[in-house]
Amino acid sequence: MSTSLRPALADLLAYLGEMGYGEVYLNPRKASASVPAAAAAPVPVVPSPPAPIDEEAAGRIAELAALAGVAEACTRCRLAEGRTKVVFGSGNPTAELMFVGEGPGADEDRQGLPFVGAAGELLTKIIQAIEMAREEVYIANVVKCRPPGNRDPQPDEVAACRGYLDRQIALVRPRALVALGRVAAQALLGNDAPIGRMRGQWYQVQGIPTMVTYHPAALLRNQALKRPTWEDMQQVRDFLRSGTF
Ligand code: URA
Repeated sequence: MSTSLRPALADLLAYLGEMGYGEVYLNPRKASASVPAAAAAPVPVVPSPPAPIDEEAAGRIAELAALAGVAEACTRCRLAEGRTKVVFGSGNPTAELMFVGEGPGADEDRQGLPFVGAAGELLTKIIQAIEMAREEVYIANVVKCRPPGNRDPQPDEVAACRGYLDRQIALVRPRALVALGRVAAQALLGNDAPIGRMRGQWYQVQGIPTMVTYHPAALLRNQALKRPTWEDMQQVRDFLRSGTF
């Protein structure tokens, strides 16, 4: 490397460090360690500059924050009894890409944030593999409170929480949604199809193109699901870049 480039690179690395983009971002091999080889190109992940917030978007952001406040006090179903914290959602409230998972696990219940456990770490890597930063996207779950023992949320619990998810989608207004796993896909699409049949296909939810893929926890259990998940995420990346399917 030419010596004249070194100070600029040092500044960039310091900036990324301050922004919280730690070693995963600065070490592409690590960032792509658990995605298939095709995803392993050493592309530095730097978030795009945030879009300017107009008055209309500011209103949606404020309503999303108010809705989070309502959810904090929610007792609409039995899951409220066992929760430590409500896990409303996190990330960029005007994101172009929104992920929907199933429901909080033990780590999420403790911290009040979605996808912070082992599956969350893998989700972060999946996001980085499509050259986005986790902070750029919005992440929510079908149910906002932890089902006991990590069981599937029951249909009445999904129904009780549905209004929050629908409103989150309407307020974030992403260009694309990704349903992570069977429970999220069935809830969003209103069907009972198996995940193997739904994944890799585009659907419409509230008029928003919606890709179904495997849940990161399933990838942790079964390495063979990483390749199809990567193919699904490439479709998402290509749609966001081109605006066409
Ligand atoms: N699994 C989910 O579906 N959501 C989370 O937030 C964490 C794990």
